[in-house]
Amino acid sequence: MSTTQPTAGVAGAARSAGRDAAIATALQRWFGFDALRPMQREAIDCALDRRDALVVMPTGGGKSLCYQLPALVQDRLVVVVSPLIALMQDQVAGLRLLGVPAAAVHANLSAKERDDMRAMADDGSLRLLFVSPERLFFDGFANWLAARDVAAFAIDEAHCISQWGHDFRPEYRRLAELRERFPDVPFQAFTATATPRVREDIVAQLRLREPTVLVGTFDRPELTYRVLPRQDLEGQVTAAIRRHPDAASIVYCISRKDTESLADALRQRGIEARAYHAGLAAGERSKLSSDFRAERLHVIVATVAFGMGIDRSDVRLVVHAGMPKSLEAYQQETGRAGRDGLPAECLLLYSAGDAVKWRSLMERSAAEGEGDADALRAQLALLADMQRFAGGVRCRHKLISAYFGQDYDEPSCGACDVCLDELEEVPDSQILAQKILSAVVRTGQRFGSSHVIDVLRGSRGERVLQRGHDQLPTFGVCKGMPAGLLGNYVDQLVDAGLLVRSDGEYPTLSLGPDALAVLRGTTKAVLRMPKQALAARGKRKRDDSGRGRRSTEATDLSAGQQGLFDALRALRRELARELGVPPYVVFHDSTLADMAQAAPRDAAELAQVRGVGATKVAKFGERFLATIRAHGGAAADD
Ligand code: ADP
Ligand code: ZN
Repeated sequence: MSTTQPTAGVAGAARSAGRDAAIATALQRWFGFDALRPMQREAIDCALDRRDALVVMPTGGGKSLCYQLPALVQDRLVVVVSPLIALMQDQVAGLRLLGVPAAAVHANLSAKERDDMRAMADDGSLRLLFVSPERLFFDGFANWLAARDVAAFAIDEAHCISQWGHDFRPEYRRLAELRERFPDVPFQAFTATATPRVREDIVAQLRLREPTVLVGTFDRPELTYRVLPRQDLEGQVTAAIRRHPDAASIVYCISRKDTESLADALRQRGIEARAYHAGLAAGERSKLSSDFRAERLHVIVATVAFGMGIDRSDVRLVVHAGMPKSLEAYQQETGRAGRDGLPAECLLLYSAGDAVKWRSLMERSAAEGEGDADALRAQLALLADMQRFAGGVRCRHKLISAYFGQDYDEPSCGACDVCLDELEEVPDSQILAQKILSAVVRTGQRFGSSHVIDVLRGSRGERVLQRGHDQLPTFGVCKGMPAGLLGNYVDQLVDAGLLVRSDGEYPTLSLGPDALAVLRGTTKAVLRMPKQALAARGKRKRDDSGRGRRSTEATDLSAGQQGLFDALRALRRELARELGVPPYVVFHDSTLADMAQAAPRDAAELAQVRGVGATKVAKFGERFLATIRAHGGAAADD
């Protein structure tokens, strides 16, 4: 296998033509895909050329193929380090269904599973081996591995190695030892984290050697982003879920308590929702996630504890009931929607108080000795970026792209509340902006937004009275206006540079450079709020068509195809139950939708459907074909 050293000139070109063919064949044969995404090809080339690499791709970008395909193209073993057992088990189940010999090694392994794994490794058939970081250094495992023919190491969720990231795991630190232990094996680190600091840390900590750094596109055009001021949490969440009946939805809350109360409230409104958080017993948690994956449960109200292992691909809605603590977290959590590539909605219900809550949580845990002052500063900076995103009224796709260091040239994304024209100018914006700016001036530009808002709303709280702020001319000029809404306007003024929010533990507001012109009336300030029609609009659409919006309606299935699609989904559920795997492992929604549209008549036609590989055709192609025939095939009603 030493011929895989990079070569140049004619030999290189010849090898590359051979490689193209080998990759195309493996891709079609095992996965049923026609083409690699561009970044995938570059990552795979690194592995085949035995170069180290850092691959940064958003959730859903297709990282797993980057380490799976080199194993299949070379007929060799790739070892994947992965942080979560659930994640590994799903991957192993999925690969085995594709016919790929795969196994996992972790603390909960049965003796039989271990023996199977060893047997496959010994006879050379094992292609993908998933290992938890702890297990690598346990019980002579690394020695055992050193005696095998390892083609590459893939380090999944590599940001877990950095304390600058949002998911630091100390056990990842020892992975550096692997690099010394296996000097001739290429290492490939995978992450979806944005900040340059984390990326540099990954390279340094893993001791990657002159790694090729590949950064994928972070924009997810199929996701529609909306940010609404949180006014009536339960009503807003209910309306959002009703826009996607029968589809999977995840609602993220900041605290465990919130998940419980919101799930209760949703159930009272007739939505079968369950709360999920790290405080539940392990058994209950795993039952909930397996119910969700098996499509027995569609609405989960969760803390961030829910997610990493859950790649159900047909999630159509992700709601944030509170603001997440960084744009990385937001991107990752919203990234769980639409993984099948079909349109999905991401709704953030935001109140400026969320940032205050996070700040105090972060300070508390810093005071309790988790991380140092630098780490706290790093977290507060990530939080400030998130708040700018939530409070601003500029194209969401553009802002996310910019945050991840990428240009976004479209004049309108067509998939965010701003570009979809769902916001309107608040009547008397100018006067309202002047009131807010003036309250900031009158209180001496020394207070945070909650105090300024108290003054505007005419609160007779102790802090206001003590300072005599009830005597100010701006006291009570916004009486009756919800604090959350005012907080939102403050954010917009910050976003527009008319107010400046200081850094640090107790951010205060002061005037920005153009604020005086607004106060004098020579410059116009515009404040926006969502048109109230949004929730109602979703409802009206449903009533017009006389039936509920389907999770897949965006694929433009005709009524007959929709019926077939539903039948194919039912068959998938049945197969998943028989095989003891999550349904998406059998086929993704997008594959079933294509299948319903194409209505293949035989195995050869079935194999043409995107996402259908040879092994699946052989294993259960006949049952899908039978269902299609039972539905009258392509003749359906279109
Ligand atoms: P990540 O690990 O980056 O979050 P995955 O590896 O789970 O993403 O891939 C996301 C989805 O994209 C999966 O459903 C996968 O089957 C699909 N996918 C990946 N690569 C391709 C490709 N080249 N063509 C079509 N679908 C792909
Ligand atoms: Zn937009």
